[in-house]
Amino acid sequence: MTNHVRPSLFVLLLASLAAGCSREATSAGMQNPPPAKVTQTPFDRLPDGRPVDLVTLRNDAGVEVRIMTYGATVLSIRTPDRTGALDDIVLGVDTVLPYTGASPYMGAIVGRYGNRIAKGRFAIDGAAFTLATNNGPNHLHGGVVGFDKRIWTSEPFSNANTVGVTFSYLSADGEEGYPGALKSSVTYTLTEKNQLIIDYHATTDKPTVVNLTHHSYFNLAGSKATDVLGTVLTINADRYTPVDSGLIPTGELAPVTGTPFDFRTPTAIGARIDSADAQIKLGNGYDHNWVLNRQGAGLVMAAMASDPLTGRTLEVQTTEPGLQFYTGNFLDGSLTGKGGRVYGRRAGFCLETQHYPDSPNHPAFPTTTLRPGEVYKTQTVFTFGAK
Ligand code: BGC
Repeated sequence: MTNHVRPSLFVLLLASLAAGCSREATSAGMQNPPPAKVTQTPFDRLPDGRPVDLVTLRNDAGVEVRIMTYGATVLSIRTPDRTGALDDIVLGVDTVLPYTGASPYMGAIVGRYGNRIAKGRFAIDGAAFTLATNNGPNHLHGGVVGFDKRIWTSEPFSNANTVGVTFSYLSADGEEGYPGALKSSVTYTLTEKNQLIIDYHATTDKPTVVNLTHHSYFNLAGSKATDVLGTVLTINADRYTPVDSGLIPTGELAPVTGTPFDFRTPTAIGARIDSADAQIKLGNGYDHNWVLNRQGAGLVMAAMASDPLTGRTLEVQTTEPGLQFYTGNFLDGSLTGKGGRVYGRRAGFCLETQHYPDSPNHPAFPTTTLRPGEVYKTQTVFTFGAK
């Protein structure tokens, strides 16, 4: 019985495949075949001649993410608005050169330690370490040549319902002052549910500190928008970490109640950004870490953003304990981005999932120490929608 059924199904399958092929063949002269869902192509060269590649991820909904091997940096993310119109929702530049200088980490993977370490100093087991300082007296985002300024090796992949790329980088023992050789990888996966999943992984051969994050500046209104003040944001946090004048946490976990840091109900980013609050003044706007509400480990909803004009939404889930919400306060119009667009103050916002800033100097904060034999593993999921 079965033996009879099988050949006939097989014949049907062949027939329908042939029909599909001929349809494509007939229209070949009129329209291009759909683009491959994952490609790797040459992008640019560094001033020293080293080539930088571009990996492009696409899904059936038309979402497209372009990532270069320099800094494992996201260059663009195109998502549909409520009418289905696709537009780019992150800031970036068209060539690699602007990323090599004092760049604002647009779209980059930030490491070995995302955010600040006071005076570039910390100790593990009584051994003191001094890191490169690149933000006044402090260490910021991995130092002078952080992970955002390294060429990563790339391995694109494609599965049934996802496409992605794994980037790997071996950070040498002593690089920027950090102890231990750190083997790190970051995997970007684009799903058919319009999610961009970022998986971080690292191991070390000596005790060290690690805090990897992703630094896209979003503007959900699209590539022609000038600022993000109208974007409505929710952050799932009852507390945040107030800072001193160098943006180093004081150590306090302060309640957000009654402050401009209370985003527990949807609120426009611009509603309180210029308030007289002392912490807002120190941050020049929002540039703080929120202590995410969570029960136990695993993914938790960290933030939700929506743009009233286009209807685009962004949800951020993470396994991390903290979220740095930064409103591009230091963007000053000196950077000309994609398509000649000038990025002024607050042209984009970052939602950097991470451990708290300066954790190596705050024993009460969740630890960022990684020891030989341990595996650093975190995940963040960005979900793009429209309503
Ligand atoms: C920091 C800002 C810093 C910016 C660099 C953010 O993660 O919180 O203080 O200026 O990165 O572009």
